[in-house]
Amino acid sequence: MDLRSNEPFWLQKNGIVNSYPTLKESSECDVLIVGGGITGSLLAHQMVKDGYSTVLIDKREVVHGSSSVTTSLIQYEVDVPLYKLSRQIGKKAALASYSACANAIETLEGLCKAIHSKAGFRKKKSLYFAADNKAISGLKQEFEAREKAGFKVKWLDSSTIEKRFSLRETCGGILSSEAASVDAYLLAHELLIYNTKRGLRVFDRTELQSVKYFKNHVVASCTRDIKIKARRIIYCIGYEAKDLIKEPFVSLKSTYAMASEIDREHLKPLSTTVFWNTADPYLYFRTTTDGRLIIGGADEEFSDPQKRDSKLDQKEAELKSQLSKLWPEYKFYTDFVWAGTFGETVDGLPYIGAHKEFPHSYFVLGFGGNGITFSVAGMEMASYFMKNKDHELSPYFKFGR
Ligand SMILES: Cc1cc2nc3c(=O)[nH]c(=O)nc-3n(C[C@H](O)[C@H](O)[C@H](O)COP(=O)(O)OP(=O)(O)OC[C@H]3O[C@@H](n4cnc5c(N)ncnc54)[C@H](O)[C@@H]3O)c2cc1C
Repeated sequence: MDLRSNEPFWLQKNGIVNSYPTLKESSECDVLIVGGGITGSLLAHQMVKDGYSTVLIDKREVVHGSSSVTTSLIQYEVDVPLYKLSRQIGKKAALASYSACANAIETLEGLCKAIHSKAGFRKKKSLYFAADNKAISGLKQEFEAREKAGFKVKWLDSSTIEKRFSLRETCGGILSSEAASVDAYLLAHELLIYNTKRGLRVFDRTELQSVKYFKNHVVASCTRDIKIKARRIIYCIGYEAKDLIKEPFVSLKSTYAMASEIDREHLKPLSTTVFWNTADPYLYFRTTTDGRLIIGGADEEFSDPQKRDSKLDQKEAELKSQLSKLWPEYKFYTDFVWAGTFGETVDGLPYIGAHKEFPHSYFVLGFGGNGITFSVAGMEMASYFMKNKDHELSPYFKFGR
């Protein structure tokens, strides 16, 4: 599957950060990580930290899948609001999922500090605003649910939002204290570089093609029929997991994003907050450390990559029009426009755990609008799985839930 259009912003901005060899001879390890996006890089970090000999392979260049197009808003807010998720999966499960994402923001901050990351991790606030009057009552219920659950939230009315952020006609919204943004493309590379110095072996242009299962290990056959013997496999293959796992568990969408020219002066009021609204599909935006505005949204059902990419001009106009209704004084001059495919689940939650058809293996699939925070939560979960320990989130993130 072609996961994205050409020339996403992060690839252009960062260029070639590092290169890795293809796998040329058989190898052995404790853990084989399949997929070198942000998820695989985070999981590799965890496995190396836990002392496992670890190999990571990717069939593309590393970080050339979805993690090269992500807009990287880091939020605890799951796509399904807390009050609705509580009805859907129960209060305890919904709260645990939201709390795990909030903790993931802290974990990611600590991680960025520990590896001296230059990927621009910034703690921010998050404004979840009503797209129209009809959304207000639901949003108020959400505000109450979050406040009751102990999240640091404030209700802002539309005039406060206008005064503070210059955004008009928002009908009010929830301001949360916990959010962030980062350059996930650079961060994934940094994690791989950091951990190769600590024994991680990374091979790109190396595809996992088949796996043979034995009592206590697996043998993975890769490109050119080169084998890797491993005690465990951790699949971090993103949306292409849809091709591997038979039952339907995720629906794919085409999504669009664009980055403005650098304009620090006008974007200053927006620079410490990330924004999203209640529309379906929702509009979201945030600034970058180099002074651009990134906007995303205009999602639709994914059918094929050509169709997705043919709509770039139309979607650019759509996103600009949505922004100009909110902020008529701001003129968005486009520097980059790109498209990607992304996966949604019914409850907005990821799939992290074992699958009965894949012995000695775990999946970490961070779906939904906050795929990255879910992948961070997956680090601790995988660490538990490796020690045969149960994790409290497993029942909520498991296959067949
Ligand atoms: C436009 C867009 C905006 C988004 N915005 C946000 C956001 O604001 N916040 C957020 O949290 N999330 C966001 N997401 C989601 C987020 O980008 C994803 O959750 C995240 O990038 C997934 O990372 P990953 O490493 O799991 O997948 P990927 O980055 O796709 O990496 C998977 C890797 O697996 C490799 N692979 C697959 N099969 C094999 C195989 N058989 N053998 C070897 N390698 C294999 C692929 O080549 C790929 O490199 C967005 C997504 C898109 C598309």
